[in-house]
Amino acid sequence: MSTATEQPSLPTLSFDNRFANLDPAMGSRLAPVPLPDPYLVAASSQVAGMLGLDPRMLQFSEWLDVIAGNRVPEGAQPMAAVYAGHQFGVWAGRLGDGRALLLGEVAGHDGSRLELQIKGSGPTPYSRMGDGRAVLRSSIREFLCSEAMAALGIPTTRALAVVGSDQPILRETVETAAVVMRVSPSFVRFGNFEYFAHFNQHQTLRVLADYVIDRYEPEIAARGPAATRTGASYAALLENVARRTASLMAKWQSVGFCHGVMNTDNMSILGLTIDYGPFGFLDGFDANHICNHTDQQGRYAYAMQPGVGEWNCFALAQALMPLIGDVDLAKQALSAYRETYDREHSALLLAKLGLRSAHPDDDTLMSSMFEAMQASHADFTLFFRRLSGVNPDDASGDGPVRDLFIDRAAADAWLAVYRARLATEGVAQAERAAAMNRVNPLYVLRNHLAEIAIRRASGLSAEGSPTSERDYTEVGRLLEALSSPYEERRGLEAYAAQPPAWASHLSVSCSS
Ligand code: AMP
Ligand code: MG
Repeated sequence: MSTATEQPSLPTLSFDNRFANLDPAMGSRLAPVPLPDPYLVAASSQVAGMLGLDPRMLQFSEWLDVIAGNRVPEGAQPMAAVYAGHQFGVWAGRLGDGRALLLGEVAGHDGSRLELQIKGSGPTPYSRMGDGRAVLRSSIREFLCSEAMAALGIPTTRALAVVGSDQPILRETVETAAVVMRVSPSFVRFGNFEYFAHFNQHQTLRVLADYVIDRYEPEIAARGPAATRTGASYAALLENVARRTASLMAKWQSVGFCHGVMNTDNMSILGLTIDYGPFGFLDGFDANHICNHTDQQGRYAYAMQPGVGEWNCFALAQALMPLIGDVDLAKQALSAYRETYDREHSALLLAKLGLRSAHPDDDTLMSSMFEAMQASHADFTLFFRRLSGVNPDDASGDGPVRDLFIDRAAADAWLAVYRARLATEGVAQAERAAAMNRVNPLYVLRNHLAEIAIRRASGLSAEGSPTSERDYTEVGRLLEALSSPYEERRGLEAYAAQPPAWASHLSVSCSS
């Protein structure tokens, strides 16, 4: 522990807040509401590095106060962005950052620009009925999953740290408050565009679109300055968003990630995974798996995600129509979605199966695989990971895969076809296995792993009984395992295992 006199002063992050200064209509300026006695729960040394910070600094009260909203760093211009959106397919009207504030934009270590946002920082003009807070449970989940997704190579907002406070927060039960500092090149969502389109603020809509083009779309920006842009440039923006979104969906599907709340206000214009709430990774394969207890219709079930991503792009297209002007241009731009999704999803599946080149019979190979997995609820992550042990020459390596199936005969039948398919590739076993292990993760943030870390951090044992103290070390250990998801390490067997029986009762909802 360090005494107050040893604490270094806050490094002067040099703020340059382009979004906050873009147009007063983008949101509301306001200060965070302080939280008493903040303490550090977890920090990402990788994200600290991206910001050129020494992660040890985050333990000091000056940083804890910045993250908890007790101190606004010099140069920051905190603001809540206004947006709207379609929630569960229905127009939801004005939403906005109801419990998050953008502090501002700083230069990353490599010169790229990153925005800092605190989530759980108190009420804003967009809080509606909410209290503006986030609880420790959901903050730990967001922190861990942001970093886990990044390590998987999946585009995502990042998380620098989670800070907790003993301030009580009422959800289904009384919990405690926490704040996550999120880091991203931008937090702009489809919903920001939908807001200005819906309320007929077309001039502001254009300011926002030009901002996104000028900052994040160098190829479109190079065609000419904002004042000269026509519908074709905004259609090109739509096309790029459609491509990025499709590519993100292909990646989610490839690791069994379910977002849970794919409302258009939770869709990033940069194609990043954003707003981690009731997300989950598939354990036993079920194409219809619904990870969000609140989603009774299964609108956002696993197999629905690619279609919902496309539907959301249509909602964005509608919002951009005042700028694009021509329906055919918009349709043409949107057609990039399916083309990108199909191409990228097929390529990812081929790689997961260790296949180098596509074959006309592969569709049958894949569909029969998913059918067998579905019937046995075979563990998604372990199935693909263990596939690297399958040998084309004989069935000696089939056992670990076979063990994941209740219907062993179905597994054997599929494995025989798969082995024959592998034989056509003529790639050495060791080489193929190594390539497969680079794309099929062993460690993903299964719900029960997050739950154990949360229980420990809340002063409970892994089984849920009270202990004498809160222990944040499990959050750190889990982060460490998830930070190298493709690299098998001794001692981490528990993080690769299927969920224990008690975990089948876990449910996650929108309450966070
Ligand atoms: P979500 O589906 O969690 O992304 O949230 C949808 C909307 O509700 C966003 O505008 C959030 O800012 C807002 N919101 C969620 N929880 C709270 C809360 N506790 N207090 C205020 N606003 C909230
Ligand atoms: Mg949201």
